[in-house]
Amino acid sequence: MLRDSTDPSRLESGIIDYSQAPPNLPALRWGRSKEAEAVREYVAMMRKFGHSRFDAHECGMYVLRRKPWMTATPDRVVGCECCDIPRILVVKCPYSL
Ligand SMILES: [Zn+2]
Repeated sequence: MLRDSTDPSRLESGIIDYSQAPPNLPALRWGRSKEAEAVREYVAMMRKFGHSRFDAHECGMYVLRRKPWMTATPDRVVGCECCDIPRILVVKCPYSL
């Protein structure tokens, strides 16, 4: 796990040959503008379903130690008191719906 200050996109592009889409595409701007709202709604829904103290936290990139070419950049790590196992959350806010 990386420090919170590590920019996952820069590290990821340094590990693999990877180029990002232009950041001002309307669909990408839409996704960024809606992500926090989607996370809030998800947290509220999980609490409503009875998950005690359910919450979501921003995170950086995860790198598998034994296979450092294998990485993940989830949007949040989520968890609650009752389930005791942290899980990852990836948010998709479709522009075309
Ligand atoms: Zn739970």
